[in-house]
Amino acid sequence: MDKGRILLSVTGFNPQRWHELLSAQREVVLAPDGPADPSITYAVVWKQPPNILARLPNLRAVFSIGAGVDHLFNDPGLPEAPIVRVVADNLAGHMTDYIVWRVMDHHRQGMLYRSQQNKKIWHEPPQRAAEDISVGIMGLGQLGRAAARALLALGFRVNGWGRTGRPMEGVETFGGEAGLVPFLNATDILVVLLPLTPATRGIVNYKVLRQLRRANGLGGAVLINAGRGRLQKDADILRALDDGTLKEASLDVFEVEPLPKTSPLWAHPRVFVTPHAAATSDPAHLVAPMLAQMDAFERGEPLRNVVDRQMQY
Ligand code: NAP
Repeated sequence: MDKGRILLSVTGFNPQRWHELLSAQREVVLAPDGPADPSITYAVVWKQPPNILARLPNLRAVFSIGAGVDHLFNDPGLPEAPIVRVVADNLAGHMTDYIVWRVMDHHRQGMLYRSQQNKKIWHEPPQRAAEDISVGIMGLGQLGRAAARALLALGFRVNGWGRTGRPMEGVETFGGEAGLVPFLNATDILVVLLPLTPATRGIVNYKVLRQLRRANGLGGAVLINAGRGRLQKDADILRALDDGTLKEASLDVFEVEPLPKTSPLWAHPRVFVTPHAAATSDPAHLVAPMLAQMDAFERGEPLRNVVDRQMQY
């Protein structure tokens, strides 16, 4: 069977590198020919222009180059073809590095030491053990589980919350709405790795942050969000930091990105900002398995890592 052409429509990331690696193996186009292009059978996308996929009558599958697919569900012309998302050890490794880095920095008082260094203060605060700190991972999926394994190995207690509360060895898991408050009540450092869906939008709000455990060895609750910006309410995080609900926050994602220069989060002394850089999809690791999936699909094998359209993740 003719394999057809691949549409590559990527905003951000590194489109040239994706193009170079994909086009070494298959015919790649950057836009459909005309209002309906039957020659395109697969689309590889990130924040593609709206309705572009609706112009592909022979589309067999859409591949998101990221783990998150919220960008696709914003498209009013999203076709019925299956959507495949990225699940890769390389991506999970980057995210695990980020989560461990931020948990460790809060655990070992990085913010306090940086502020002391600025003022040339020589002071050693009390130290506590990792085993006395509970990290709660909101969104215990592919990335959350990888981070959980690393945190367990470092001696932290780990809780996890998901839609279904799937179990994980060594982790106390909670599920659904009924599990949310008990999960938060048992959490000192909240790590958000949820997908952005209609059910999770705005979930990291003041009411939720109030449920975190503040009377802990850290001297307060900590938030780390590396999921998506619109999971959180930026203003609620600022309010929580300012009234002591939160001690510190590490934020990789924001309601509006790039984070506007006027946002008070930039200069807040207890906020650590990174520019949506926790884990980037690397085409050198992802193109070969993506093409292999297309070939397997052509041979009649099922696609892997297909998004549930109802759940939108
Ligand atoms: P995943 O494997 O699909 O896991 C998603 C997790 O969230 C699952 O545990 C799922 O619960 C849970 N969940 C989904 N909807 C929920 C709901 N309504 N209530 C409670 N829990 C819910 O996704 P992943 O591969 O780990 O990726 C997670 C997210 O990370 C992506 O969607 C993306 O937004 C973000 N991300 C960010 C960066 C970055 O650089 N900042 C990079 C990559 C990815 P179940 O286990 O019950 O299904």
